[in-house]
Amino acid sequence: MHEYVINLHMHTPYSDGFGTHAEIAREALQAGIDVVIVTDHNVLVRGLEGYYREGERKVLLLTGQEVHDQDRQPQKNHLLVIGASRDVATFADDPQRLIDAARQAGGLTFMAHPRDPAAPAIGEDDLGWVSWDVDRFTGLEIWNALSELKGRIKTKLHGLYYVFRPKQIAVGPYPEVIQRWDGLLNQGKRVVGIGGSDAHALPVRAGILRRTVFPYRFHFSGINTHILTPDPLSGDETQDRELVLASLRQGHAFVGYDLPAPTRGFKFTAQSREQFAWMGDEILLQDGVTFQIHLPLITRCSLIKNGKPMKTWENRQNCTYITSEPGVYRVEVHIDYLGKLRGWIFSNPIYVRSVD
Ligand SMILES: [Zn+2]
Ligand SMILES: [Zn+2]
Repeated sequence: MHEYVINLHMHTPYSDGFGTHAEIAREALQAGIDVVIVTDHNVLVRGLEGYYREGERKVLLLTGQEVHDQDRQPQKNHLLVIGASRDVATFADDPQRLIDAARQAGGLTFMAHPRDPAAPAIGEDDLGWVSWDVDRFTGLEIWNALSELKGRIKTKLHGLYYVFRPKQIAVGPYPEVIQRWDGLLNQGKRVVGIGGSDAHALPVRAGILRRTVFPYRFHFSGINTHILTPDPLSGDETQDRELVLASLRQGHAFVGYDLPAPTRGFKFTAQSREQFAWMGDEILLQDGVTFQIHLPLITRCSLIKNGKPMKTWENRQNCTYITSEPGVYRVEVHIDYLGKLRGWIFSNPIYVRSVD
């Protein structure tokens, strides 16, 4: 498998962001990531997808959209739609119809920032997901950089602190979102976890200070979704778009917080007598299944089964675990950074199914 780094979920002046697609591509090239997915609110911007190049480097820019019902107060239920062949914003008032319309158009659907606390100090409402009676969606945005920030800004002063200390912000996904994910997985559903930046590159002013809060470039070295593809990206945009979408659809992906240290190289696989599985795959139990975890560097790693920690390894880089029980298994990795133990890697699950 080949690993690529995607930064997804961001906005441009087509909705409420401040950088153009070309600026995003340029910053992505500088940050060295492979794919960016721009998702403006309630509009599918066309004609800008493709490879952007600078010297030897290239970045694939894809456009999706983030759809919500603008007549609803508060404006909850934001859905990321990626890869759909048409604009589905007209279905926004009914989340299930929206999900189905996106699917029919070949699109993937992810509930954006499922928990999104209000931040009255900066005039931000709670825009979390509430319509949990839906089905047939692809997955959840388990870690959203902006929602985490909103949860930390209790006063304007907190806001100012984080504008100047952005590296202090991210600690991990909201536990409620991870519980929700595990709950859905425990119902037997396949639910893909992704991480998003929700970048806006908002210019702010405080007295004489002016700053772009969290430029795209900052986000590109933050919370990314890493995908695994069976073939390398070729440079052909149509072909590569399909590879990217397929890996997201199958959950051949993990969420990596690349600021403390690059998460590139993380592996979580399973092997039975006859089968081999990557994260996102199903595997039959047969006699037993052996998991292997490889971390990019030595740190703390936990194997979670059906939402419960099974085993935690401290100061390890390679971990092995053999199971004889069916279940949904995923990996969480933490790392010490700026005085705190922070979330670093969240794998998609491997689904161990019983033979009968
Ligand atoms: Zn949103
Ligand atoms: Zn957004």
